[in-house]
Amino acid sequence: MTKRPYNFSAGPAAMPESVLRQAAEEMLDWRGSGMSVMEMSHRGKEFVQICDEAEADLRTLLGVSDDYAVLFMQGGATAENAIVPLNLIGRRPEHKADYVVSGSWSRKSQKEAARYGDAQVIATAAEAAVIEGREQAPFTYMPDPATWQVRPDASYVHLCSNETIDGIEFIDWPDMAALGQADVPLVVDASSHFLSRPMNVARTGLVYAGAQKNAGPAGVTIVIVRRDLIGHALPVCPTAFDYANVAKESSRFNTPPTYAIYMAGLVFKWVIANGGLTGMEAANRAKADLLYGYLEASGFYRTRIHPSVRSRMNVPFVLNDESHNDAFLKGAAAAGLLALKGHKSVGGMRASIYNAMPLEGVQALIAYMKDFETRHG
Ligand SMILES: *Cc1c(COP(=O)(O)O)cnc(C)c1O
Repeated sequence: MTKRPYNFSAGPAAMPESVLRQAAEEMLDWRGSGMSVMEMSHRGKEFVQICDEAEADLRTLLGVSDDYAVLFMQGGATAENAIVPLNLIGRRPEHKADYVVSGSWSRKSQKEAARYGDAQVIATAAEAAVIEGREQAPFTYMPDPATWQVRPDASYVHLCSNETIDGIEFIDWPDMAALGQADVPLVVDASSHFLSRPMNVARTGLVYAGAQKNAGPAGVTIVIVRRDLIGHALPVCPTAFDYANVAKESSRFNTPPTYAIYMAGLVFKWVIANGGLTGMEAANRAKADLLYGYLEASGFYRTRIHPSVRSRMNVPFVLNDESHNDAFLKGAAAAGLLALKGHKSVGGMRASIYNAMPLEGVQALIAYMKDFETRHG
C-alpha cells in the first residue's frame, strides 16, 4: 500500500485512514447482517443501533446533558442557516435575532435569517481596527463580546465560532449570563472546528455543524439544541425541518442520511480511542503552534490574523510575492500536499489541519515551504 498524500482541503476534508479502512471492510456486510449500511432500512434494528450509538458517543464526547436533544439532519450548515430561524425566531413575539458578523460564513447566516424576521448585525469585524496595539484588516479579528449590542428581547444571538474561510476561531464561547443577557440563548455554527477540542455546550442554546469538515462525510448536519427552545417553529417551517418532529423521532422522522451517520459514528469512536476531545485539542494545538510559529518567523510567508483568534483548524497564509502562487501550488501537489489553494474570496493559501491531519502532515508542509523559499526567496 503506497502512502496517501496529505490532504489540506477545507471540506469535504480528510478522514482518519483507519475509519476509511473499517468502512471498506464493512462495506458489503455490516457485522454479519448480510447488508451494506446503505442498504438497510432506517427503521431496522441494525441502523437504529448504529444511529443510537452515534448519538450516545457524541453525547459522551461533548458531555451533552439530557437537557439537550442531539439531531442528525440534512441540508448542511447552509440549510441550518434557515432552519435555525425557522425554529427559534418565533419563540418571542418580536421575531428578532441578533447576529455577530465575523467573516464569510456568519455574514451568510445573517442574510439568510433576514428572510424570516428581524435579523440584526449586533457586532461586526467588517471594519479595520486596532486590537491590542496591532492594526487589523477587516475580518482578521473577532468582535469582543463586551461590545455586542445584544437586544434583550432577541430570540437568540448567533455566532460562527470558526470562520473557515477567514481563519478566525473563537476559543472561549461567551457566557450570555455574564454579559447580562441570560434570556438570549447563544446559537453557534461550529461546523469547521466541531470535535477539535472540548466545547462548552452548556453555554449555548444550540450548536450546529456540517459533518464534512471534522466529523464525517458530507450529508449529515449535527444539531444540539436545548429542549426548552424546541416547539416554536414558524408555520412555514417544513415539517421535516421542525426540531420538534426530528427530536421526537430520534432523527428518524423521515429517512436520515444513513450512511453519513454511520461514518460520523465511526469518526466519533476514533476520537474517543484517540484521547477524546482533550486528546484532539493537544494534537491540534501542537500542529497549529508549529505552523503559526513558522509563519511568524518567516519573511517569505505571512498570516494576517490576530494572534488571539488564529484558527487551529484553518490556517490562511500568503506568499509576500504572490507571483509565486501557481508554482507553490504545483510544487506542493507534486510533493503530495493537496488542496492548499485559499478560498477565492480571500486568495492566497489555506492549510486546513483538522483532526485527521497528523503532525507529520504539518511537518511535511513546513519542510516544503522552507524548500520553496530557498529556491524562490
Ligand atoms: C462549510 C461551512 C458551512 C457550509 O456548509 P454546507 O454544508 O456547504 O452548507 C457553513 N458554516 C461554516 C462555518 C462552514 O465551515
